[in-house]
Amino acid sequence: MVSINSKLPQVGTNIFTVMSSLAAEYNAVNLGQGFPDFMMSEELIALVNKAMQKGYNQYAHMAGYSLLRERIAEKCNALYGSNLNADTDITITPGGTYAIYTAFTTILEKDDEVIVFEPCYDSYIPNIEVNGAKAIRISLQYPSYHIPWNEVQQKVTAKTKAIIINTPHNPTGFVLTENDIIELKKIVAGTNIIIISDEVYEHLIYDGIQHQSILRDAELMQRSFVCFSFGKTYHCTGWKIGYCIASAALMKEFRKVHQFNCFSCDTPKQIALAEYILNKDAYMQLCSMLQEKRDYFRNLMQETPFTCLPSHGSYFECYSYNFTDESERDLAIRLTKEYGVTAVPVSAFYKEGNDNKVLRFCFAKQQETLEKAVERLIKLK
Ligand code: GLN
Repeated sequence: MVSINSKLPQVGTNIFTVMSSLAAEYNAVNLGQGFPDFMMSEELIALVNKAMQKGYNQYAHMAGYSLLRERIAEKCNALYGSNLNADTDITITPGGTYAIYTAFTTILEKDDEVIVFEPCYDSYIPNIEVNGAKAIRISLQYPSYHIPWNEVQQKVTAKTKAIIINTPHNPTGFVLTENDIIELKKIVAGTNIIIISDEVYEHLIYDGIQHQSILRDAELMQRSFVCFSFGKTYHCTGWKIGYCIASAALMKEFRKVHQFNCFSCDTPKQIALAEYILNKDAYMQLCSMLQEKRDYFRNLMQETPFTCLPSHGSYFECYSYNFTDESERDLAIRLTKEYGVTAVPVSAFYKEGNDNKVLRFCFAKQQETLEKAVERLIKLK
């Protein structure tokens, strides 16, 4: 028998896999893992088919199909006032999570520190640790989930290599404000700190709020990797395709890592997306469509003993409870097994498993699905 030293000794199977498997086993309504249960665009599917039938089935360019990169540059420049160069600043990746991992692997050296705000998406800390670096964890202020900027300032050291931000935020639906970006700018000014910005929910933002993309700020862009996901925007999370944007100097290093990992992404999907991305309505109408779902779910949830922690973006809304002393994890498992509804414990987004008695629900579902879930949750009363 061979043995290896685990690079991630504290890590088990991630929460989404665990909860989705449990949901399937108990035939529960799955509001846990973040994915839509409604159909994606038939037109986009047809475009992929067409590309395959036309013979676009071989490797794409390592950085991504050039027309797609050009159109991403045009879209971002129009939306965020950036000045992107498609040749040097954009790389197509197999999903947003991969883009974030590659950005970390590009910059991190042993013993570097990365400031992370908890609760955070479950891949960030393992990504940092597998690269031999250390996550410096700061808790978002419960229950508003705002960033405590004073604490950030105190935790910056000579070893701080990066700060990772995420807006709209998974799991809480919190969104960064213009003022947050000003605070971030003050902290990084005059330092070598890199920003990794997870913006996969850029178009899923509600209540008329404007997405504070790092792409809006030319100065911050010089030190940032900004990560996006087509899966979230076009309701096809299983396609695993997204992109990373950075300045030419940073992107050059990113591509050195990327080219020896996945090398290049799925060609027919890139061809299809290069055409479909021209349809502005497909992404501009997302906020109203998903906001309607959030509001519908929120209204239904009033009949249950859960209390809403309002979300302003993403697929998710968090709900706190005080009707039981059970931990979030125990309650999430019991709800699946006994009530047939699956949610995700927010403690899974903290390295030390902090438990505020909050569950995350995914509302990116058909009305019937949301109704069915809430009908079952009402029985908790
Ligand atoms: N991003 C999705 C979520 O937060 C899940 C991704 C995954 O399963 N790894 O639920």
